[in-house]
Amino acid sequence: MKMSKLFVQTQREFPADAEVISHKMLARAGYIKKLTSGVYNYLPLMWRVLKKVENIVREEMDKAGAQELLMPFVQPKELWEESGRWGAYGGELMRLKDRHGREMCLGPTHEEIITAIARDGLKSYKQLPVNLYQIQSKFRDERRPRFGLLRGREFIMKDAYSFAASQEDLDKEYKNMWQAYTNIFNRCGLATKAVQSDSGAIGGNVSHEFMVITDTDAGENDVFYCEECDYAANSNHAVSNLPEAIVDGSSYFTKNEIVDTPNCHSIEELSEFLKIPSSLILKSLIYIIDKEPVMALIRADKQAEETKLLNAAGGIDIRIASTAEIQELMDNQGFNAIPGFIGPKGMKNIKIITDNTVKEMKNFVVGINKNDVHQVGANLEDLGIDEINYADIRLVEAGEFCPQCGKPLKVTRGIEVGNIFQLGTKYSKPMNAVYLDADGKAKPYIMGCYGIGITRTAAAAVEAHHDEWGIKWPLSIAPYHVIVVPVSVKDEQQMSVANEIYEELLSNGVEAVIDDRDERPGVKFKDADLIGFPYRITVGKTITDGNVEFVTRSTGEKQVVKPDEAIKMVIDAVKNI
Ligand code: ATP
Ligand code: MG
Repeated sequence: MKMSKLFVQTQREFPADAEVISHKMLARAGYIKKLTSGVYNYLPLMWRVLKKVENIVREEMDKAGAQELLMPFVQPKELWEESGRWGAYGGELMRLKDRHGREMCLGPTHEEIITAIARDGLKSYKQLPVNLYQIQSKFRDERRPRFGLLRGREFIMKDAYSFAASQEDLDKEYKNMWQAYTNIFNRCGLATKAVQSDSGAIGGNVSHEFMVITDTDAGENDVFYCEECDYAANSNHAVSNLPEAIVDGSSYFTKNEIVDTPNCHSIEELSEFLKIPSSLILKSLIYIIDKEPVMALIRADKQAEETKLLNAAGGIDIRIASTAEIQELMDNQGFNAIPGFIGPKGMKNIKIITDNTVKEMKNFVVGINKNDVHQVGANLEDLGIDEINYADIRLVEAGEFCPQCGKPLKVTRGIEVGNIFQLGTKYSKPMNAVYLDADGKAKPYIMGCYGIGITRTAAAAVEAHHDEWGIKWPLSIAPYHVIVVPVSVKDEQQMSVANEIYEELLSNGVEAVIDDRDERPGVKFKDADLIGFPYRITVGKTITDGNVEFVTRSTGEKQVVKPDEAIKMVIDAVKNI
């Protein structure tokens, strides 16, 4: 490819809405162009990268015994009603109607469709296990599309679904996919950590996410991990053992009584005023879950984790209540209290979820829906809660102890590039997707599902491999392997050697670009670095001595070599991809 013809317009500036490196660089280097919020054109360079990621995924999935198919992007409501998700899936589901008024959705994922395919085609245990996958665009009307390709509304995903006759076979396939994922991300030049995770709207029990670890904002997930053992979990699933804390207030309070706590709105103010550790305060938080207020109770030195709370409440959508919503709740309950003084006492017709930390608390401090006072020396039984629902809704913090080996946990951030789920019979049962076992009995398939974000993986590779000048693509997924740069296109010798090198590379199957533009060398080098060619062969003045410059983008190493050596280095590297 000639640089003068390559469809790429590098930009001087980063786009105004770009917050993370991969978005900034992919836009500036001319890989992507935004069409509308969360929807991007994949321009020729990007499409080359995406096809490479797809092909690595395809090869490893095929090698693992999975079979590729392609399902439609538009899906009918009826199948989603069968699974029960038409009502249950939140605002991310993009719903539409055809000209006959029939309701449809744009596929955010394909469990319903694949389960319907399986139930018509997999009738006997002899046909199982089977793993079917596709690589296709998905649409999710994400609440906050952001970070370019990392969280789009339209994005490309590889989704695979396995069908088995036993849990044992599902376990085997789960491991098989785990290995395939490890191979895939290694081949894409990405180090990943497999972490335990919540299975969310998709359902099921066991699941792991493959995370690219990063210390930047692009990592939307907090990952807690142990350096001593293999424990690693997303914050929405992590558990920990807590260090000792004072949870019995009997040495502070001799009586269960109401005391004045003027202007103590925050936990800090209250613990300072009462001269007690915050572990003796019961914190009452109001969330809105599926439009209804829910109260969460937790030891005040700890934070609530929203996904855990959402799961405990059995909801789909969660957010913290606004001050106005808390005011409204207080009005409806007949109280007049502001945040800081709220508590479970006397609350009617509201779901209350109590964190497990509260089980051990005795003689504690709690708000009683009256301003400027708290009850001290209180116990949960005294508060008249209709039904105490205990759950783990606590956000783990670094330094708390590993649930497996007891060593302190660490925290880092991760980009989820793929995940694997054991679905069990979550879809096959309601959709009556059954096979006949050896005794002729109908049984629902035991399913698994396995996703990889193709577009997100490419963007994560940029997050993991770049410097201030641009992208440093791993060779396996770079749009081109090498750029040949004649310093002066007007110099006949430089131009003819550059052309020879270029032709030789092409005839050896190397994906090469020659920068034939009549531009200053500085401009050419800048573009080469920004676009991120893994290798650059520069043909300049030294060609009169028979030498060229060979630059490795990943390390910045510069070598003066003969043209033949430069060609050989690239050919060898490409052979080893
Ligand atoms: P997340 O928690 O990041 O929203 P998810 O749990 O919704 O991800 P899945 O539904 O399991 O993810 O999708 C499988 C894969 O698809 C994810 O691991 C991720 O790589 C990719 N993916 C999911 N949502 C998006 C998105 N909005 N933009 C780009 N890629 C996505
Ligand atoms: Mg999601």
